[in-house]
Amino acid sequence: MNHRTRTCCVMILVVVFLSEFLEADNKGNLFHAGAYAIDITPTTLPVSVPGSFGPVMATHVHDLLHARCLVLDNGDTRVAFAICDSCMIPREIFDAAKQQASRETGIAVDHILASATHTHTAVTVTPLFQSTVEFEYCEFLADRIADGIIRAASQLEPARIGWAVGNNPRQVFNRRWFMRPGFSMTDPFGRSTDRVRMNPPRASPKLFKPAGLIDPEVTVLSVQAADGRPIAVLANYSLHYVGGVPSGTLSADYFGEFARQFTLLIGAAGTDPPFVGIMTNGTSGDINNINFLENSPGRQPFDQIRLVAEDVAQSAHAAYRRIEYRDWVPLKIIEKEIELGVRRPNPEEIDRAQMILKEAGDGPWRGDRRVIYAAETLDLAEYPASVLAKLQALRIGGLGIVTTPCETFVETGLAIKQQSLLRPTFTIELANGYNGYLPTPEQHALGGYETWRAKSSYLAVDTEPKIRSTLLKMLNEIAE
Ligand SMILES: [Zn+2]
Repeated sequence: MNHRTRTCCVMILVVVFLSEFLEADNKGNLFHAGAYAIDITPTTLPVSVPGSFGPVMATHVHDLLHARCLVLDNGDTRVAFAICDSCMIPREIFDAAKQQASRETGIAVDHILASATHTHTAVTVTPLFQSTVEFEYCEFLADRIADGIIRAASQLEPARIGWAVGNNPRQVFNRRWFMRPGFSMTDPFGRSTDRVRMNPPRASPKLFKPAGLIDPEVTVLSVQAADGRPIAVLANYSLHYVGGVPSGTLSADYFGEFARQFTLLIGAAGTDPPFVGIMTNGTSGDINNINFLENSPGRQPFDQIRLVAEDVAQSAHAAYRRIEYRDWVPLKIIEKEIELGVRRPNPEEIDRAQMILKEAGDGPWRGDRRVIYAAETLDLAEYPASVLAKLQALRIGGLGIVTTPCETFVETGLAIKQQSLLRPTFTIELANGYNGYLPTPEQHALGGYETWRAKSSYLAVDTEPKIRSTLLKMLNEIAE
């Protein structure tokens, strides 16, 4: 037998062997999956870190940052996910990465879902408050995301797929609170119209009640090889981030730690190719990990991240054990671009901002919110009257996934879960671009940090219903 004949026989044997385990669809298509986690840690330090008002530079790496990529192919349709350890990523970076990946893999640009996890301790790639964009890293990041998708595609192998919904109400808290009378609520624009306070003082007698809900669901999508070897798990939970990372340190926060702990829980630490655990951010614009009714437990750095990751990984694992795998499922993805209004400042607001900045002089202004928001006001004066935003809806068998390019409020995610024709459905936020916070009109009326106009919150008040109804229509379209 020459080498070619031998290879051919081996391939036939492999196909015969696999077909005993995996059922094709009626056209003979097999389901395939491939995954790869690519390192996106910057190669040089220091780098600017976003996620706070002030300028922060990182000089230390605690744990590596990754773009965790997953490619699914059912013979008709191929889709790719790239979930990146970053606070927020602008559309230009995602678009560049998608184009590059598409050229190499043939996966259509609009069949790629890319998002940021929202770890607050990654590299600045979006101008926000006083953090400066690391332009060289932006190029590196786009290249790396593309490479991650290309490698995941190169690892496609016959696979089966399933999903289940777990529950963990213990690690999510609504962070917007109504306060009792006598609690000062002045905003950075000198107004006292806010009715809620974001991140109020813990265990304060002035706390009244949270201004919104939580979403306890931990949804788990799993793909495994024909012999049962786990390829990847893509989970979804609505938690902003955890934090407790020392200043000046890069970390993937609980998103990276979840991947590590889940891998250990299912005994997938030594698999070849390596198992890829992924945690996506759900709708967590108004959610964090702080139990405001209790005093801080005063943990060591990274302890809270480990605790949360372990608890959420356990909940994901409980769901994972219930998964019924399918050999083949329908796969659909649609993308829409919608025009969204911008809350631009009026002439008086611009005058006031200019006066404040004249007095304050050049930055950095550290924590002076009045000055920081005056600078934001002038930046927003340069914004166009409307922006285009990308939305996606996916169907994987009976599972629905939608995306928003925003820090989306939990109310939106809950409404979509409830009204979607696909059960279960979940939302991945900060996907395919970055357009700031997305409070509902009701939450806008309550005011608070997430509504204060800045590059982190600038969409028109009526944006959330527009995005929600468009996503629901898109889900209806693919559910048929
Ligand atoms: Zn945030």
